Amino acid sequence: MSSPKHDIAIIGAGPGGSSAAYFLAKQGFNVLLLDKAEFPRHKTCGDGLTPRALDILSEMGLLEDVHREGFRIDGIHLFAPRQQHLHMSIPQKENLPNYLLTIPRFKLDQIIFERAIQAGAAFQGKTNIHNIEKTTQGIFISGKHNQQNIEFEARMGIIATGANLKLLKNTKILTKQPPMIMAARQYLDGVSGLSRNVAAYFDGIPLPGYGWVFPISDTIANIGVGYWPHGIARHWKPKNAHQVFNHFVAQETVREMLKNAVALEPVKGFPIRMDFPTAPTFGQGCLLVGEAAGLVNPLTGEGIDFALESGRLAAEHIQGMFERGGFLSEDFVSYNAFLRRHFQRLFVMLARIRKLYINPLLISRFIESAQNIPDLQLMLANIILGHEDAAAGVSPKTIRQVLLGK
Ligand SMILES: Cc1cc2nc3c(=O)[nH]c(=O)nc-3n(C[C@H](O)[C@H](O)[C@H](O)COP(=O)(O)OP(=O)(O)OC[C@H]3O[C@@H](n4cnc5c(N)ncnc54)[C@H](O)[C@@H]3O)c2cc1C
Repeated sequence: MSSPKHDIAIIGAGPGGSSAAYFLAKQGFNVLLLDKAEFPRHKTCGDGLTPRALDILSEMGLLEDVHREGFRIDGIHLFAPRQQHLHMSIPQKENLPNYLLTIPRFKLDQIIFERAIQAGAAFQGKTNIHNIEKTTQGIFISGKHNQQNIEFEARMGIIATGANLKLLKNTKILTKQPPMIMAARQYLDGVSGLSRNVAAYFDGIPLPGYGWVFPISDTIANIGVGYWPHGIARHWKPKNAHQVFNHFVAQETVREMLKNAVALEPVKGFPIRMDFPTAPTFGQGCLLVGEAAGLVNPLTGEGIDFALESGRLAAEHIQGMFERGGFLSEDFVSYNAFLRRHFQRLFVMLARIRKLYINPLLISRFIESAQNIPDLQLMLANIILGHEDAAAGVSPKTIRQVLLGK
């Protein structure tokens, strides 16, 4: 039997799949990138890029491109339910940029995708993959392209299908429903009071969760909400994210900002997976990257950075597998260990911080204490951005500072 035509097939061409495709194609692998959408395509998102995301985009040679299309953000406002307000600058951490960028995903994903193609990856759009099976030669992939059945073979695969669970369920890689954050956003033009800051509001939405106003220009903002439906604020069980969005924008402060604003499109909802600590990371001859592996910050809901980083880690691991000629089950198990060494502790700690502070009892106190204690404020900024060992956020010293305000 002849070997499969492609070394690696990647399902999903968002930031996770396209970064893996770029790093693999650059190493000379024969990469086939598949997506059910044609590019460019829209992706419902808050459009915020953390310094970690900017760092890897810079490594991919894309910093200039994202700067050209993006909007620089220098600080973060947090608003607590009892009117407490905290402003934080983006701290400098080692060589990471000390700013954020917002950029509509329609543009960002196209930039990353094009880089993968330039590096040599082949692409087929409008290709919805329904199943993947491990074979003696590698993997067998089946799906539909323009309503026609279609099949591919590759030595191995990467699944980068984001929060869409269908393929993971069909392949039995995912055997139970993971917990999901519910989220929705809308672009509005003519929003007043926008600045070079993003704002997160803990008022007018179920906790844990937050509403956001992310400027993407001097007048246009991406406004949205995200909340954990399994949170402790069970007195309010919203029907869906649209209902929460409508409630959030009706709050006085936001309503005031939107007085002269016009919606550029209808509100769009999409779930977010952030269950990495318990999520499967491989199966059927494939490695999982990005949100398909639950890699979204469980405190903030940001996942572009982790999608890009895990794409690069998967590429690095696959390179080792090809060098060793190893496609044994140990090689897949060791990818799981590799990913967990990078992200497990951070994710477990971020989820603990969310549980401890982002609730009606402590959120206002947390923000008020951070206003008064510069060290706590700096630590908070670093934790939100995924810069710092988040364990510091739940240390006895921090809990004491939060509770006592000194
Ligand atoms: C409302 C909202 C706001 C958010 N805000 C932010 C933010 O501000 N900053 C941030 O960093 N993150 C944010 N996130 C999270 C972020 O959008 C994701 O974590 C990120 O897109 C994950 O990248 P990915 O490459 O893993 O998956 P995706 O970007 O979702 O890409 C997956 C790709 O796979 C394709 N696909 C899926 N199934 C199949 C299939 N069966 N066959 C073929 N193709 C398939 C899809 O078409 C898609 O192109 C937000 C998410 C939501 C919902």
